[in-house]
Amino acid sequence: MSNSDLKNINVAKFGGTSVANFGAMENCANIVKNNSTTRVVVVSASAGVTNLLVDIANTAMSKEQIRQRLADIEAIQYAIVADLENTDEVVDKLEQLLTSLTDLALHEEIIHRADLKDALLSHGERMSSLLFSQVLKQVGVVAENFDVRNVLKTDNQFGKATPDLEQIKTATQSIMQPSLANTVFVTQGFIGSDADGNTTTLGRGGSDFTAALLAEALDAATCEIWTDVIGVYTTDPRITDAARPLPELSFEEAAEMATFGAKVLHPATMEPALRQNIKVFVGSSREPEKGGTWIVKDCETEPAYRAITRRKEQVMVTVKTPKMMYAQGFLQKVFTIIAKHKLSVDLITTSEICVSFTLDNPANSVLERLNQATIEELGQFCEVLVEENYDLVTVVGNNMHSAAGVSSKIFAAVADYNLRMICYGANPHNLSVLVSDKDSSDVVCALHDALFA
Ligand code: ADP
Ligand code: ASP
Ligand code: MG
Repeated sequence: MSNSDLKNINVAKFGGTSVANFGAMENCANIVKNNSTTRVVVVSASAGVTNLLVDIANTAMSKEQIRQRLADIEAIQYAIVADLENTDEVVDKLEQLLTSLTDLALHEEIIHRADLKDALLSHGERMSSLLFSQVLKQVGVVAENFDVRNVLKTDNQFGKATPDLEQIKTATQSIMQPSLANTVFVTQGFIGSDADGNTTTLGRGGSDFTAALLAEALDAATCEIWTDVIGVYTTDPRITDAARPLPELSFEEAAEMATFGAKVLHPATMEPALRQNIKVFVGSSREPEKGGTWIVKDCETEPAYRAITRRKEQVMVTVKTPKMMYAQGFLQKVFTIIAKHKLSVDLITTSEICVSFTLDNPANSVLERLNQATIEELGQFCEVLVEENYDLVTVVGNNMHSAAGVSSKIFAAVADYNLRMICYGANPHNLSVLVSDKDSSDVVCALHDALFA
């Protein structure tokens, strides 16, 4: 590769469906081959594997049930091996991974220890990256399988570890940078390691974040997120056929969409991109010729409405005290307890005697964490009502708080639905409504018709 390519390197990330089987991996390998600036490839676990691993990690089950899931995982990976021309280099390593995976899966404390869970989960990405590096070699690309845990340093919050940006920068510059001209690194998304060398994970969907972090640390010019859709759409194309792909988005819009539920990007993905001004591309590995969405600092357009997102499984808590009017420090007391239990508050509304707030459910764990202890603690000084089965629907756009007619158009579109909570004006990029999960698809469709038809 030329020196100019090295100054403009690209980090390409391929999601689970893109590395689900040999054919899908071959499409990805050709995408890498056709862009000589791609020097780092980040892969997710093959589709289905992480879900099976999460199941083993979180559900009490018999040894036989565990072995069945392990067999399913093995079958997914060996179906890929079956299509490799040269298996010498991978089979031993794959067998070693399957052995350590089996040991962890059958470990007596697997469902109780967060460190073991992360070690278990890491096997999905470690296996897929091993196999994908071989597929790349098969299409003629010089590539090596690289253990991202050497560089992706994090704290030790297992399950949702926070990356240590400085250490990542130093390690990638010293370990990866010198070889970028000679080889394509094929590495794992989603996983990292703490100061003691324990394996950590970044949270579900975290491979996008890994790609952006490596792009930042290596001063990359671009970061490509290859997935199963031809870009970021006006809304999740699984909700309505009317959704259409967007050619361009700003960092802020994309960050907002990701935060408010557009699963196509992990919510933290845009942070490194924004800090380092790295252009992010989203496209389909099955149909790369169809192009995709470019996420950039400055867009040509700044429409009032850009997209609609939905975040599912929101929990609403209402705390009520007849004395609130006079009770100074009531809110502080409530939020101290919430913070102590590591719950993060999202939307808030207040009245004289009531405060309602929603709690996000990023890793499907709010209900687990909003346990009896939290409720009892709150219950010592107020009435507590917990309501489930809500979704948050958000319109993402620009200058929404100051543009005339924005709110009236949105509220007219959803006039037939019960809006349990509304958040508007705190941020120029969004307007959110909390609705029953039974209504949320219809609310998204109604908004889409009104704003994008
Ligand atoms: P990957 O495994 O490649 O990371 P994900 O399943 O995490 O893929 O993300 C892709 C999915 O995100 C799409 O299949 C789509 O259903 C969903 N999605 C949600 N909102 C959007 C949106 N606004 N635009 C595109 N896809 C979206
Ligand atoms: N394999 C992980 C998951 O399924 C990470 C990712 O795919 O981004 O959540
Ligand atoms: Mg994803």
